[in-house]
Amino acid sequence: MTDLFELEPLPDDGQIRAALADAELCALVAACAHATGDLGLLRASLRPDPLKLREPQSGYTAEQQAEACELIVGALGRLRDERGGVPDRPSDDAIHQIMNFTAGVDVSDRYVPLLAEELAIDGDTRAPQWHKDDLDAARPMSVLVIGAGMSGIAAAHRLLEAGVAVTIVEKNDDVGGTWLENSYPGCRVDVQNHMYSYSFAQKHDWPYYHSPRAVLQQYFRDCAERFGVLPLVRFGAEVTGCAWNETTQLWTVTVRNADGTTGDLTANVVVSAVGQLNRPKMPDIAGLDTFPGASFHSAQWDHSVDLTGRGVAVIGTGASACQFIPVVAEHAGHLDVFQRTAPWFIPSERYLQPVAAGCQWLLARVPFYAQWDRLFMFWRGAEGMLPAATVDPSYPPTERAVSATNEMFRALLLAAVDALTEGDDELRAKLTPDYPPLSKRFVVDDGSLVRALRRPNVSLLTDRIERVEPGGVRTADGVLHEVDVIIYGTGFAASRFLTPMRVTGRGGVDLHEQWAGDARAYLGIVIPNFPNFFCLYGPNTNIVVNGSIIYFSECEVHYVAQAVRLLLERGVGSLDPRQDVHDAYNERIDAANELRTWGYSTVSAWYKNEFGRTAQNWPFSVLEYWEQTRQVNPDDFHIVSLDRA
Ligand code: NAP
Repeated sequence: MTDLFELEPLPDDGQIRAALADAELCALVAACAHATGDLGLLRASLRPDPLKLREPQSGYTAEQQAEACELIVGALGRLRDERGGVPDRPSDDAIHQIMNFTAGVDVSDRYVPLLAEELAIDGDTRAPQWHKDDLDAARPMSVLVIGAGMSGIAAAHRLLEAGVAVTIVEKNDDVGGTWLENSYPGCRVDVQNHMYSYSFAQKHDWPYYHSPRAVLQQYFRDCAERFGVLPLVRFGAEVTGCAWNETTQLWTVTVRNADGTTGDLTANVVVSAVGQLNRPKMPDIAGLDTFPGASFHSAQWDHSVDLTGRGVAVIGTGASACQFIPVVAEHAGHLDVFQRTAPWFIPSERYLQPVAAGCQWLLARVPFYAQWDRLFMFWRGAEGMLPAATVDPSYPPTERAVSATNEMFRALLLAAVDALTEGDDELRAKLTPDYPPLSKRFVVDDGSLVRALRRPNVSLLTDRIERVEPGGVRTADGVLHEVDVIIYGTGFAASRFLTPMRVTGRGGVDLHEQWAGDARAYLGIVIPNFPNFFCLYGPNTNIVVNGSIIYFSECEVHYVAQAVRLLLERGVGSLDPRQDVHDAYNERIDAANELRTWGYSTVSAWYKNEFGRTAQNWPFSVLEYWEQTRQVNPDDFHIVSLDRA
């Protein structure tokens, strides 16, 4: 992994000028101001319109782009010639001014510390500012992390930094979680890659704006290696149960090894980092077992099945299916895509493109460009589309749109469908959703998917599936669609958090009995009756229209580390949240989710559980989650002190 601070030298102005065509100019002006200390570069004429931040070049006109280019060439030339490329650290006020410039608005003082952490110009300021040996060197403190995906690696890293003993138990043979398991063709990250990375392991040389999954998996492997996490992982071992012992104040964790043997481990603290989207869900369609041909779920792709020239059915048009449909379409003899609900498409030209050479060149040479470019993305996405996902009760909301802003967004997205379908009215009708945008996960497309659906060997079928038969898939209109292979892009049992593990807490209470199918936690992390047990990416911590899930994991990991600190600092044997605190929190979450598109709409989505409650999504701003997870408030907890244990 490249170190952001090891930059290559800046060559002559001609080469800089040539690279600028591929630059994000606003972020580059910010980087120049930072690197040179010249805040005069932050000209009012170049401050972007906050409403245009998502447009190419943040809405800069041709004149503004030319002005920015001249300014940048001059600034980088001075930096090279006069300063030897070594920048001083600007003052906090200067950093705030640069933030204001890139945001196009005055960033509130409330937001600045969060952005400063994401910017990470002072290094990794989120690292624990404490060490176990300074708090209680003699006390044994072991943490068992379940899962070595994105969240588990981050948790292990932070706890190791704080001097806490960590073991990770991972059911797979490698790290990477979702990026390891989902090997279907076309799998890639559909949010911007430069932002989809740890704040403490930023990387500027991503090959694509949205890299393929192997690149992501390698990134997480590199991180696990670099942070000393890899040797702590027990691979091929699945946690089947966790049992709390109130007397010893320890967890007993039962592990099933790859060879079928089982064993127990003990730990003071358990961190579940098992993810939400890792238990494939097969559809409730009659006759699945009667199909004699090859069939598999997208997350268990059978690479031994050659699709060339075969008749293939794909069931589902969610984010996974929409990534592999274009690839399958190229090989299949004929492809029948069964769509139950049309997805909303968010168009992105760069979706499949490698990062432009000039952009890579600048990222490798201009001090702080990579950081400001990432922060620029973070800010644009921070509260992102949240306003468009907010229900306005007086609008009045309907299944068409939930507010005037949502309606405007709908019109924008429909215009994209119009453009993509190029006058094919039948396809356009099939791809026009009948629910408000942002009610369920959108699908990113640069046009490839819609082009694939228009191929002569591809049919998009919207009739309800009646059943699967030995010959293929029969729809409600009576037609049998004959195929050789069925691929299920039918998603995951997302609401069944922490299954199939059996977790028993204080007094032997069973977690799944306590939840009764409606998983809840305080801050998505801690659960009453389950002392010293922490969830990452737990209930109501999914974000769908704003922020990045890695940012959320970092917040959760910070909170967990703070809780472990509290155990050590205050001689606490165990803690679990008070029921009343947990309940009040969940009431607030539920009420807020009702006022988001996904809570309002009745469309089928994995955001809701079997009771119709939005059990996945965080309804508030990313700032609020950061603020709520900064400190562990002892008053929120039922605490057992060590001497009482
Ligand atoms: P999903 O969004 O839950 O989609 C499942 C699809 O299967 C839907 O189209 C669903 O239709 C359909 N389906 C389910 N049961 C069916 C049935 N009985 N009959 C007909 N159709 C049925 O699952 P996913 O595509 O695997 O995506 C899950 C999540 O993973 C995404 O939302 C996203 O958060 C994440 N993901 C991320 C990326 C990335 O690049 N970052 C890529 C892939 C996935 P309905 O819509 O009618 O329910």
